[in-house]
Formats: sequence, C-alpha cells, structure tokens
Amino acid sequence: MAENKDVLVIGAGGVASVTLHKMAMNRDLFPGRIAVASRTLSKCEAIAAAIKSRTGIEIETYQIDADDVEQTVALIEAVQPALLVNLALPYQDLALMDACLKTGVHYLDTANYEPPEEAKFEYSHQWKLHDQFKQAGLMATLGVGFDPGVTSIFAAYVRKHYLSGIRQIDILDCNGGDHGHPFATNFNPEINIREVTAEVKHWENGGWVTSPAMSTKVPYDFEAVGEKNMYLMYHEELESLVTHFPEIERARFWMTFGDAYINHVTVLQNVGMTGIEPVEYQGQQIIPLQFLKAVLPNPGDLGERTKGKTNIGDIITGPAKDGSGEKTYYIYNICDHEECFREVGSQAVSYTTGVPAMIGAALMLNGTWSGAGVFNTEQLDPDPFMDLLNKHGLPWQIVEMSAPVDF
Ligand code: NDP
Repeated sequence: MAENKDVLVIGAGGVASVTLHKMAMNRDLFPGRIAVASRTLSKCEAIAAAIKSRTGIEIETYQIDADDVEQTVALIEAVQPALLVNLALPYQDLALMDACLKTGVHYLDTANYEPPEEAKFEYSHQWKLHDQFKQAGLMATLGVGFDPGVTSIFAAYVRKHYLSGIRQIDILDCNGGDHGHPFATNFNPEINIREVTAEVKHWENGGWVTSPAMSTKVPYDFEAVGEKNMYLMYHEELESLVTHFPEIERARFWMTFGDAYINHVTVLQNVGMTGIEPVEYQGQQIIPLQFLKAVLPNPGDLGERTKGKTNIGDIITGPAKDGSGEKTYYIYNICDHEECFREVGSQAVSYTTGVPAMIGAALMLNGTWSGAGVFNTEQLDPDPFMDLLNKHGLPWQIVEMSAPVDF
C-alpha cells in the first residue's frame, strides 16, 4: 500500500473500541492518522477520550450513517484514508464497499453481509464485487475477526506447514466467561440471536446437511475452561473454507452455550421476541428483535463484570505433509476476560475480534497482505498474521492429537 497510512474505522461498538485502542497502542504499525465514524457521535467521542487517557494518542471522530453511500463517500474524501475498517454491522458491508470503490480506498471487515430483512448471511453478495475491486486495483479483506478470521488463518497455517490438505475440520468456539447477568449476549444481541436461531448447516461429502437450530449438543472438555456443552451451528467461515479448500470432506462449527442462555433464547423465540418482521404496536412499527436489543445489557458494558476465559480453535485432520499418514492437530487460543479488560477496557469477545481486525489492517497498510480483489483470510499468507497474534495479546498453541474427533 502507498505512503498514506491513515485509517478510518466505521462503527463505535465493543469491537471498534478494541481495534482503535490497539491501533493507538501500536503506532509503529499505525503511524498515520486514526479516525472513527459512527451513527452516534458520542460513542466515538467516548472511545477517543478513553484512548487519550490510556495512551495520550488523539483520534479523530465523525458522525455518519453508513447506510448512505454518499455520506461515506464525502467522509472518505474529507479524511482521505488508505484503508476503511468496517466494524459497524453486517448490514452496512455492501454500502461501505461501494463507497470504497467510488473513492479508491481499501476495505476490511469482520462479518459478512446479511440483508436486514432476512436472517441469512452468505458471501455471494460480497464475492460478486471481486472483479470491481480487482479492476480498481483495490483489496477487500473479509471476515478478519476471530471466527471468521483467525479460525480460517489457523486452517491455512496448518495446511501450509503440517498437512497437505484438510480432510475434516471442526471449529470449536468456547466462551467460559461469566458476566453475572441472567441473560446477555457478548456481542451485538441482534446479530448474535439471528445467528443462534438460524437453521444449522454443516458440510459433509460435497454438500450442506441441515438440521434445526440448537438440535445437536456435545459435551467437550476445554483447556482452561473445563467441560461445556457445545452446539452445532452454521457459521460463515464454513462457506469460504469449503470454497477455497475444496478437498474438505467435512466442516463443522460448534459454539458453547450454558443452559440458562439456551432457556432464555428458547422462551424469547417461543413468544416471538426474536422475530425480524415488523409488528404494529400503538401505531408504531416495531421489529421485536431490535426492541429486545434495546432492553438487554449493552455488550460493551459487560467487560467490567466478566470473569473467565475463552478458548477458540480448530481441530483439523488430513494427510501429513511429510507422508507419515493421517494426522490430527488442534490449534487454539485461550483468552482471559479480565486481562482484556485491564488492557483495553473490554471483555474477551470484543478483544478476540478487535485484535485480529487491527492485525489485518496493519498487514494491509504495510503491504504484507496485498492483492486486487475480494479475499477471505484463508487465501492470504497466514505466517505474518500468526506472528502478530503472538505479539499482540492472542498467543496460540498447536498440539497433535492421537486420533480424529469422535463426536
Ligand atoms: P456493536 O453493536 O457494539 O457496534 C456496532 C456499531 O456500529 C455501533 O457503534 C453502531 O452505532 C454502529 N452502526 C450501526 N449501524 C450503523 C450505521 N448505519 N452507520 C454508522 N454506524 C452504524 O457491535 P460489535 O462491536 O459487537 O460488533 C461489530 C461487528 O463485529 C459486527 O458486524 C459483528 O457481527 C462483528 N463480529 C465479528 C466477530 C468475529 O469473530 N468475526 C465476533 C463478534 C462480532 P450505534 O451505537 O449508534 O447503534
């Protein structure tokens, strides 16, 4: 990427706060101006004030409705960043990519596009823009959080250094944190609940196998957390992994949930509070799930009270590179909620998403990751990213397992 090292972050939620803190704390990686723009200016200002008091670094703040492409174009023209980092919601992805194409700016996000009126995320909308980004000589890197993001980079790393191909992959996302509320979500409640109530899909022998939400449960003993029930879910990196690594026979995604979480979601779903169709109430159109978000604890405020650890990683089986037969590796990161809060004032779910976004942005800014078009993380060189994970708060481990998973 050229001399310009200025960066513009869109969104001022839990994830953006972590990414902006880490950018300000690593001026060697982000030597240019750092700006944040979001719908609610006061949230940008609160993050800027926290960063100023922690690091002494000033970041610029702006108000913007990122659904309005012209507003973003005007802001980009005013700020003139080299890179736009989208940490708003998946609904804004296409409008922000459009604004980047119109202004000649590189793009990075952490979640794939989802139309607001249909809880169905898929990459097709963003992959369609590949040729336009390619022709413009611009790079768009999609899904640079932890999952998606690090989990796909873990897969690429194992495939580069240990296995000649991936026969099967299980992604295990365990949050052993306790925030003390009867019910709260660790990131945006609307996005989180849409995700967990969606029909499950996993990849098996060249096709998708579907099952009802939360219908497959397996107990697993996670290092540093202990035994938790994990549930089979659909998650966006499954789509990109089976596309870019076509040898994969089976790909599954698992996430842990406590019984209290499952009971709350079940009741909310049964009474219609997770619906995304507008209902009329006292002359007003209300979307139940958005109203629910308004009454739930703000994920950004959970940091102070969350204790415990996350453990997220991949168990991957395939033929060993050295020809020594089939091997299975578990590659994972353990992150401590309280340590994250001490460092940047956020809990580990925001931290494990915000740090990878910072690292991806750094690699694009300094040209280590380069290319023209739309890319998922597993298509890029994993090594520099893996090095920076170790240096910036998300150290990882890899262990060989004696056998493939038996669940
Ligand atoms: P939050 O809800 O905390 O923050 C979202 C931010 O986007 C808010 O500041 C919100 O503004 C802003 N925003 C929403 N709509 C607009 C708009 N039209 N224009 C401008 N700003 C807007 O979410 P999180 O920080 O928890 O999550 C951020 C992203 O990270 C999401 O896309 C989420 O899906 C993704 N994510 C990815 C993960 C991964 O591992 N890959 C894991 C967790 C999250 P306002 O405050 O005014 O509503």
